[in-house]
Amino acid sequence: MIIENVSVDVVEVPLDSGYVAGGQAVSSNCHVLARIRTSDGIEGFGYIVKQRPQLIHAVAQATRELGAELVGMNVMDVELAWQTMAAKAKWVGPSGFLHWAMAPLDIAMWDAAGKAVGQPLYRMLGGFRDHITAYGSDRLWYSLSLDELGQSAQDHAANGFTALKLRLGRDFTVAEQVERATIAAQGAGPGVEIMVDGTESWDLPYARMVGRALQDAGVTWLEDPVHHDDLNGLASLTAALDIPVTGAENLYTLAEFRNTMEAKALDIAILDLARVGGVTPWRKIASLVEAYKMPVCGHVMPEVHVHLLAAVAHGHKVEYMPRSTEILQNMPEPVNGVLTVADGPGHGLILNEAAVKRFTVN
Ligand SMILES: [Mg+2]
Repeated sequence: MIIENVSVDVVEVPLDSGYVAGGQAVSSNCHVLARIRTSDGIEGFGYIVKQRPQLIHAVAQATRELGAELVGMNVMDVELAWQTMAAKAKWVGPSGFLHWAMAPLDIAMWDAAGKAVGQPLYRMLGGFRDHITAYGSDRLWYSLSLDELGQSAQDHAANGFTALKLRLGRDFTVAEQVERATIAAQGAGPGVEIMVDGTESWDLPYARMVGRALQDAGVTWLEDPVHHDDLNGLASLTAALDIPVTGAENLYTLAEFRNTMEAKALDIAILDLARVGGVTPWRKIASLVEAYKMPVCGHVMPEVHVHLLAAVAHGHKVEYMPRSTEILQNMPEPVNGVLTVADGPGHGLILNEAAVKRFTVN
């Protein structure tokens, strides 16, 4: 179980149709893919995926350098590996860039560790269930026309989703935001929850107005209404609204999560596996969130987050935003709105090697 080799590639998969998110055009999904091979022939892999090519090669180079530190370690020693990487690069950390570079290696180690003992990741992490409710999140961008949005909501409902989340824009009027939520609800039909994401693009007075209006319109979830640093603003919204205020996908560290929890800034915590630095810190943050009696969700990467959320009793919903379908042979797909882990030990995912080769841009 000794790590003999670590390799890292940048894999950029062009999109069939682009969209706008966070004010920027998106045309591809960029991966930093790390593979770990042990002395007894076990291979594990992990990746991050971001819809931005900027700095992706720099992250990958950092992953390569950190990966070299893992050679000679036992693949079961995930905590030691994480702490070793964090200590080695602490002058550029904690958090930020460093976590993105560490995450592919940490996920690859957990995959290899699961394969070493023949157990799926959700059991390695505790084992509570093997599935979790999913919500549809792809192709619900604020850059869609109303007709396109209604059609996309209808398509998601036809595919069995019981909850959808649409992004709302920065510059729309309150009435326009409500109209988008209403069009999505009409497209999806009865029995489908409509959730919205403000993507941290509003100020507090606007968030208060739009939050109330969306609540009155039947929306069931208000995500990232203001910047994650504005703990007082988030706490006031959480207190003022009946529907849950959700967020935290932009937080990196255990301490940031503690501060957010203590401020009563959220009703539901959303953890980003890459931003927190992989599976190893994800577990600790999820436990912290549990202490505050708060449900936990996952931001993107549903194929791995399904394991993490299935492993904990307070797992709530997984965001179904598949960005790596093309490089996998077996991207899990929800059935009747429920996502089940891929079969097999580790995360159970299998690379499509031909596609990885085709889209590698080292
Ligand atoms: Mg979000």
